[in-house]
Amino acid sequence: MSNVNEVIAQFQEVVNQPGDHVKKYIAKTGNKAIGYFYYAPQELIHAAGMLPVGIWGGNIEPSSVRSYLPSFYCGILQTAFEMGMKGLYDCLDGMIIPNLCDSLRASSQNWKVAVPQVEFISLVPPVNRKTEAGVKFLLSEYENIKNTLERISGNKITDQALNNSIKVFNTYRQTMREFTKVARNYPDIITPSIRNAVIKSASFMDKVQYTALVEELIQGLKTLPVKDWDGKKVVVTGIKMDSPALLKILEENNVAVVADDLAQESRLFRSDILQTSANPLENLARYWSTMEGCSLLFDPEKKRCDMIIEDVKETGADGVLFCMTKFCDPEEFDYPIFKKRLDAANIPHVFIETDLETETDEQARTRIQAFTEMAAL
Ligand code: SF4
Repeated sequence: MSNVNEVIAQFQEVVNQPGDHVKKYIAKTGNKAIGYFYYAPQELIHAAGMLPVGIWGGNIEPSSVRSYLPSFYCGILQTAFEMGMKGLYDCLDGMIIPNLCDSLRASSQNWKVAVPQVEFISLVPPVNRKTEAGVKFLLSEYENIKNTLERISGNKITDQALNNSIKVFNTYRQTMREFTKVARNYPDIITPSIRNAVIKSASFMDKVQYTALVEELIQGLKTLPVKDWDGKKVVVTGIKMDSPALLKILEENNVAVVADDLAQESRLFRSDILQTSANPLENLARYWSTMEGCSLLFDPEKKRCDMIIEDVKETGADGVLFCMTKFCDPEEFDYPIFKKRLDAANIPHVFIETDLETETDEQARTRIQAFTEMAAL
């Protein structure tokens, strides 16, 4: 158990001071770091010998950003811009912003003037992602990004290096899928906050080092007895759920997260990159066409709902927590469909709206308390 606690403490240290961790990595290795939102090709950054750093905003009061973004933009963008404008991302040598929603599309141009010291790198993923034309289009986008990353890093991205990076990231994805399965047996140890810290740390750590640490945690957990859990179990869906206050409310109410469908968590490692072509860049581009279950990806069948229902059945969860990021259009469009499908499947669910700018969680507390007391659970 002491080893498990020591490993968990390392992840907590990273998420408590992510900027410091990235700066230490840069100082120690001499490598550069590139930021990205959501589903950027991290493998390309890695193959160029740089550290991919996931940007998800943070707890900072937006003020200067008001000159660049309207106040009805989501907290992720408001706070990420604010942090960029305050110089907190100056350790990054570039920022990949994919045009995945209207807010990202519009704000990507604003980044150039609001945070000029961190080079903006454009990524326009195709909406019709499952057609060959879509794959070809994304391949051309990745070729542009590859050239930019080669210029910034001063390193040529060879096919060998990219194949190696794809392997590194596939191993990371497989390890994370195992972690989420093993973790659900230990809700007394892997609390919602710890689960979030473990998964979120991947955004700031070297993937080889990170994956080895998660593997150590998995092996440590497996040596411990599995205890009965007398609290509730939920599957969480949404963009992210990393508000310390909200995670604490779940813990106070004995609610365990047994699976998630969060963009910041499982959506990042749900499937692997298939090596079907001799061209690794094409394999990377094709991955985009195989991803499923995300509000940011065009999916007329809304497979996300089926995937969540499947997760509930597999984990024996008591219900689903829809963690809505305030002002997030893609998630707001999905919610009515999601609600209808879960109601039809008789799966209890609770809707919590989160906003990075304010930590007003009393409404969340009341809803979670009511949710756990529902007779159906
Ligand atoms: S997908 Fe939603 S949360 Fe993410 S940047 Fe767009 S509006 Fe914000």
